[in-house]
Amino acid sequence: MKYTEAPNQATAYLREALPLMVRNNIPPNPLNYALWYTYVSKKVPALNAALDSTLNTYGTCPNLLSEQLFQDHLAENDANGSGNEVLTGLLKLTSLLQDQAGEVAGNTDSYSQQLRKSFEALQETRTNPESGLPLESIIQDLATNTQAINESTQRFQKRIDEAQKEIEQLRQELTKTRQDARMDVLTGLYNRRVFDTELAQLIDLELPAGFSLVLVDVDHFKQFNDTYGHLMGDKVLQYVGRILKEKCAEPLIPVRFGGEEFAVLMPGTNLDGSQKLAEELRKRIEAIRIRQKSSGTVISSITASFGVATFHSDDSAQSLIQRADDALYQAKQQGRNQVRLQSSPATKT
Ligand code: GH3
Ligand code: MG
Ligand code: MG
Repeated sequence: MKYTEAPNQATAYLREALPLMVRNNIPPNPLNYALWYTYVSKKVPALNAALDSTLNTYGTCPNLLSEQLFQDHLAENDANGSGNEVLTGLLKLTSLLQDQAGEVAGNTDSYSQQLRKSFEALQETRTNPESGLPLESIIQDLATNTQAINESTQRFQKRIDEAQKEIEQLRQELTKTRQDARMDVLTGLYNRRVFDTELAQLIDLELPAGFSLVLVDVDHFKQFNDTYGHLMGDKVLQYVGRILKEKCAEPLIPVRFGGEEFAVLMPGTNLDGSQKLAEELRKRIEAIRIRQKSSGTVISSITASFGVATFHSDDSAQSLIQRADDALYQAKQQGRNQVRLQSSPATKT
C-alpha cells in the first residue's frame, strides 16, 4: 500500500474527520474512517457531493448508504489504482515508524560491520604494528560510527515519542468531541440529542418492563431571571441538574431537554414508580436555597412542574413526549410545583 500524504497532513485530515463523524453520528469503523478521511481530503469530489446530499437528507449517513458510497467511490478508485491513499493517519504514523525502524536497523547493520572492520584492523595492528592502521585512526573510526548509530537511535526514539503524543492527542480530541456533542455544558447532563437517540433505542428494545418519561420545567423562570439575574438563573439550572444526576442513577437517563426544561427516561419504571420519583425530585427542587451574595438574601422560591407518561406499545417518540407534555401543561395550569400524570389511556389519541 502506498501513502502519498506527508504524515502531518494525514494526521490533520484525521483530526478534521473525527469530529465531523461524531457530529454526524457516524459509527467509528474502518470503512467510515476511510470515507470521512477521503471526504476531508477532498480527493474524490463526487464522494463529497454524494455525502453532502445524504447528510442533508438524513442528518447522518445511514450504514447502508456508507457502504454504498464506499463501493461507488473508494472501492472503485482502488480498482483503477488511483485512490489507495485513503487509510487513516494512524496507519500513516505506523508506516513512518516502520521506515524509521528500517533506518535504525540498516545503521545497526552497517555499525556491526564497522565494528568487525575495526576489530580486524586492531588485530592486524597488534600482530603487525608496522603495516597496520595507526591505533588513533581506528579509535577515531569507532567513535564516529558509534556517534552515528546513537544519533540515528535517538532520532527514532524522538519519532516514537512524537507519534505517541499525536496518537494520545487524537484520542483525547476524539473523547472530548464525543462528549461535547453529547453533553450540556452548563449542567453536565446529557443533552437533547442523547435523549432522542436513547428514546429511539428504548422504543426499539421493546423492554418487557416498559419505560416512562418525566418532563420537568422550572416554574416562572423568566421572572426568576428578571428578578435575580441570568447568572443566578444559571446557578438554579446547575442545582436542578445536580439533583437530577444524584436522584436518577443508571439505568435512568436524566437530560437537559433545553432551556429550563429537563427530562428523565426511566427504563423498567412504570407510571406509579416514575410518579414517585418525580415527587421526590419536586421536593428536592422546592428545598433549594441559594444565598444571593450581594444582598445576603436567601432565595427559597424555586419550584418545578412535572409531567409523567409511560410508554404504550403503539406510541411513537413524539406521541409519548406529547402525552408527558400535556401532563406538564396540566401541572402548570393547576398551580405549578406539582406532578401530573398522562391522561388515562382511554382519552389517548
Ligand atoms: P412557566 O412556569 O410557565 O414555565 O414560566 P417560565 O417563565 O419558566 O417559562 P418561559 O418559557 O416563559 O421562560 C423560560 C425562561 O427560561 C426564559 C429564558 O430566559 C430562561 N432560560 C432558558 N434557558 C436559560 C439558561 O440557560 N439560563 C438562564 N438563566 N435562563 C434560561
Ligand atoms: Mg419551559
Ligand atoms: Mg418554565
